[in-house]
Amino acid sequence: MTELTELLSDLVRIPSVGGSPHEAGIQAVLADWMRAEGLDVDLWELPLPELTAQPAFPGMEVARERAYGLVGRLPGTGGGRSLMFNGHVDVVPPGDLTAWTDDPFSGRVEGDRLYGRGACDMKGGLVAALFAVRELKRDRPRGDVLIACVAGEEDGGLGTYGLLDRGWRADACVIPEPTGLAVVPANAGALTFRLRVPGVSAHASRRTAGVSAVEKFLPVFTALRELEADRNRDTDPLMKRWDVPYALEIGTVHAGDWSSSVPDTLVAEGRFGVALGESAQQAKAALEAAVGKACAADPWLAEHPVTVEWWGGQFLPGRNPDPAFTAAVVGATGVTPEQWGAPYGSDLRLLAGAGIPTVQYGPGSIELAHAPDEYVPISEVVAASTTLARLAAAHCA
Ligand SMILES: [Zn+2]
Repeated sequence: MTELTELLSDLVRIPSVGGSPHEAGIQAVLADWMRAEGLDVDLWELPLPELTAQPAFPGMEVARERAYGLVGRLPGTGGGRSLMFNGHVDVVPPGDLTAWTDDPFSGRVEGDRLYGRGACDMKGGLVAALFAVRELKRDRPRGDVLIACVAGEEDGGLGTYGLLDRGWRADACVIPEPTGLAVVPANAGALTFRLRVPGVSAHASRRTAGVSAVEKFLPVFTALRELEADRNRDTDPLMKRWDVPYALEIGTVHAGDWSSSVPDTLVAEGRFGVALGESAQQAKAALEAAVGKACAADPWLAEHPVTVEWWGGQFLPGRNPDPAFTAAVVGATGVTPEQWGAPYGSDLRLLAGAGIPTVQYGPGSIELAHAPDEYVPISEVVAASTTLARLAAAHCA
């Protein structure tokens, strides 16, 4: 096993699920690795009460008592532009354990595949960046090379928000999220919402005396599917490879509390894709208008409208503001990579929003992220690492 594979396997074995103590613990492990490599290390506790109180805070969906920021710096010899690699250390929970062939945090290697939750999203990319920095030590560029390990990306963007708040900046940034080695200069956004549909409870044997909140939800659901179709009819060329670039999905539905009662409330939660170039306000207004229209068409809902609440992770769309940097990443790959916009939100929008040209490029397929038997091809991690080192050598020269 190579050192790269060993480190990746070790990191996958740390179950750094967002909000768990391991999400904080893995930062100490990474800080030790960086110190051993001779990098300058900034490891700090994120001031959660202060950050979460700021109006621009991007949201947080899991409870955290503490979280850490971590930036390693390979100091440049002086005068060159700086480059940041930014990778999140949090992973999503493994889900249904019976869907996995073995332990979701095994870090098992089989041929070219390294398995485990987070292998693809995105510890593979993080290790590619760590080994790129290690490679750059041999012939240090003039500009600084930074490697940021961030927490809380999956549920909003706490870590990247926190490092920007601490004052960390770079002249450009690559996020090695799983893009299958494609170059991704833009992200759609996503907003999390909650609908409350009112009804009236009654004994189910006399159901016509009540109003079923489940039944009243149906026209609203249909209206949301129509809204999604409208919003995906004519999209940005970067998004054309996706059948539904800006997806709207209801992820949870809860109604009623007794099988023989008419349900008097239905609560549905979902995610709403935000288009490239669209503001959160515009997106929210579009969804609220569609819900309002569906309510107006129903006599009960016209009197007792569905309420819409916006909560949790608020991912705005983002786009790399500097096409020359996208071209530099393409050039560093040494091949002709695919280029597209990602349908999901990421930290790109926070970094690009702070004026830092940012592109996603990394190993592993997004189809495997968050799925059972998640894995990353080790050969892609190695290829990404080579590209990142080459990019830094040229950008920071
Ligand atoms: Zn990710």
